[in-house]
Amino acid sequence: MYGKKVIILLFALIALLFCGFSYADSSQQYDVLQKISLTKEKDTFYLCIDFQKNINFTPRIHTLPNGIKVLLSFDKPVKIPKTPRLSHNFIKGYFFDRFSDSSLMFFAAFQENVNFIEKKYTRHAIKIGFKINHKHTVVIDAGHGGKDEGTHGITGDSEKNLTLITALELRNLLIKSGKYHVILTRDKDEFLSLEERLQKIKNSKAELLISIHTDSNSDKNHRGMSVYTLPSLKKITQTYGKTYSSKSEIEQYYKHLFKSRKFAAILMQFIPEVCKIKKQPCRNSELRLLKSNIPAVLIEVGCMSNKVDNELLHSKLYRDKLNRAIMFAADNFFKKGCK
Ligand SMILES: [Zn+2]
Repeated sequence: MYGKKVIILLFALIALLFCGFSYADSSQQYDVLQKISLTKEKDTFYLCIDFQKNINFTPRIHTLPNGIKVLLSFDKPVKIPKTPRLSHNFIKGYFFDRFSDSSLMFFAAFQENVNFIEKKYTRHAIKIGFKINHKHTVVIDAGHGGKDEGTHGITGDSEKNLTLITALELRNLLIKSGKYHVILTRDKDEFLSLEERLQKIKNSKAELLISIHTDSNSDKNHRGMSVYTLPSLKKITQTYGKTYSSKSEIEQYYKHLFKSRKFAAILMQFIPEVCKIKKQPCRNSELRLLKSNIPAVLIEVGCMSNKVDNELLHSKLYRDKLNRAIMFAADNFFKKGCK
C-alpha cells in the first residue's frame, strides 16, 4: 500500500518535471542579432546582418525599388532584436518584426531607389550589396497655353488643355517611378513665349526634353501619333541661317540629334497597339523649341480632328498607356547610356 503511494508520487513528480522542462523550453527565446552595419566601398553600399553563432537560419530576401524585406526562419524561438541606429543616413529606417515564434521579418527602407548587385548569405550572416540609381532629369513641355490654345478637337476642346493634362500625368508617373526628377515648362494654363520656354528648358539642366502636342488635319480620317526631332544641320542652317559656327558646336548638334532620334526610335517600340501610329512616325522638323541643346523630341500624341483619336486623348486610360510607353522609352534610353 505504502509502495503504491510512492510509485504514484514518483510518477506525479516525473510528470511535473517534464511539464516544467517543456514549459521552460518553449518560453526560452534566443537573442539572434550580433550586429548590423552599412558600409560603402566606392559607389557600392553593403548592408550586413550578422547573427549569433548558436543559431541557424534560412532567409528569403525580397528586394524592393527602395528597400528590402527579409523573412528569417530560425531553428529556435527567437526574441525581436533591438535595432541600434545605423550611422549612415542613407537608411530611412529599419526594424525587425515577429512573424512567428521562430521567424522574424526584417524591413529596411532607403532614401533612394537602388540597384541590387549582390545578395549573399552564409550560416551566420546576410550581405546585400546595392548601388544608388542616379535620377535623371527630364523636362516636359506642355504645348501652347493661355491665349495660345493650339488646335481644336471636333468637340471644341483646345489642344492646350490636353497637352497640359498629359504632361501633368506623365510628370506624376515619372516621379512615382523614383527614377526621375521632372521639370515642367508650365503646370497651369498660362501663355509662354518661345523664348521663355527655351529659357526654362535651359535652366532645367535636363538630360531629355519631351514636348507634348496634339495634331489636327483637314482630313477627318487622318489619325495617329508621330514624333519629331530636328533635321540635318544643312536643313536647319537653311531655315535659321548659320547658327553653328565652330566644329565643337556642330559635333554637339549631331550628338544631340543622334540621341534624340534614338529616343524617338525607342519610343516607337513601346507604343501599345491601342495607339495608332502614323506611317513614318519619326519625322524631322526645324522646330526652334527642339534646338535646346539637349536630346529633344516633340510628340504629337494624336489627332484631335479625328473622332477616334479625340475620344482616346480624352480617356485617362489611354493617356496612361501612352505615358507608360514614354516612361519605358526613357528607362531604356538612359539604361543604354544615352544621358
Ligand atoms: Zn501644338
